[in-house]
Amino acid sequence: MPTQTKTAQQPIAHPGVDAIRAAQRAIGGVIRPTPVVRSDTLSTQCGVPVYLKLEHHQITGSFKLRGAAHAMSRLSDDQRARGVVGASTGNHGRGLAYAAKTAGVRCVICMSALVPENKVAAIRALGAEVRITGRSQDEAQAEVDMLVRNAGLSMVPPFDHADVIAGQGTIGLEMLEQLPDVQTVLVQVSGGGLMSGVAAALRATRPSGLRIVGVSMERGAAMHAALQAGRPVPVKELPTLADSLGGGIGQDNRHTFAMVRDLIDDLILVSEEEIARAVHHAYWQEKQIIEGAGAVGIAALQSGKLQPSGPTLVLLSGGNIDMALHHRLISTPHPM
Ligand SMILES: *Cc1c(COP(=O)(O)O)cnc(C)c1O
Repeated sequence: MPTQTKTAQQPIAHPGVDAIRAAQRAIGGVIRPTPVVRSDTLSTQCGVPVYLKLEHHQITGSFKLRGAAHAMSRLSDDQRARGVVGASTGNHGRGLAYAAKTAGVRCVICMSALVPENKVAAIRALGAEVRITGRSQDEAQAEVDMLVRNAGLSMVPPFDHADVIAGQGTIGLEMLEQLPDVQTVLVQVSGGGLMSGVAAALRATRPSGLRIVGVSMERGAAMHAALQAGRPVPVKELPTLADSLGGGIGQDNRHTFAMVRDLIDDLILVSEEEIARAVHHAYWQEKQIIEGAGAVGIAALQSGKLQPSGPTLVLLSGGNIDMALHHRLISTPHPM
């Protein structure tokens, strides 16, 4: 059943568990279900059984493929023939490029001349056309808008889109299949597409006895600022180890602000030091290579900012980290 939010004009229908189940069927041939493993060290530290969902092992290195693949499956034949376009050089861009290639659809990723060569190469290697224009993200976005207007390409946004949210929500269905007695779930929050989908799936399937906790970084947490203000507010973007969690939620946000507000229990913020320590922990104790954004759930547990109850599931959302940075982080000694 879709949840509804009243606006001044018309109620907006948010994606519900039926849409998420349909997404699971639609993307089953493209994505891989990801494993859940128990963490002995975190279980000992927290005094409850702690499990990790290894979504950084998803194809393209993050969950963003799920939403992109679902959006792709929902295009009309006409839209499919014209292609898709985006401005993300990060995990969304990778997911979109791969999903388009799998579907045999043209994909254009617009980026500014300031984007580092390794990111350009990663997107090209996934089969997307790269268009380099201007020297800012705004100029890249202007090129996207032009291609939508003049060439009829479809823009697939990174989070505030019903099909994208439903695709990310398939993680929530997997979580309940893999750990039916879970009581605490930790999920990263940036634009909130991931959390909206996962929380919608969890709440519909387990209406009570489940605590859903969002985690963001202290530096530039746009959803946190929006929840405090009661509406989307501009937030200054700051450099952070959790770079995949940077950026705003959009002033004209349709779905994710209301869904996150209505579906989660807490939103916890973690520091750069706590993120660094969590990346370090993931490598040395769990043998997992994860990016800063992927590590914030572990950071929340290790910081003691969250006292989990019952079986606890932490989402590791991505692993696309610069390996020189990763090497520095794991080479710094951290007290256990
Ligand atoms: C995009 C992303 C997130 C946050 O997802 P939102 O839907 O924007 O909240 C978390 N982790 C990783 C690795 C990501 O790429």
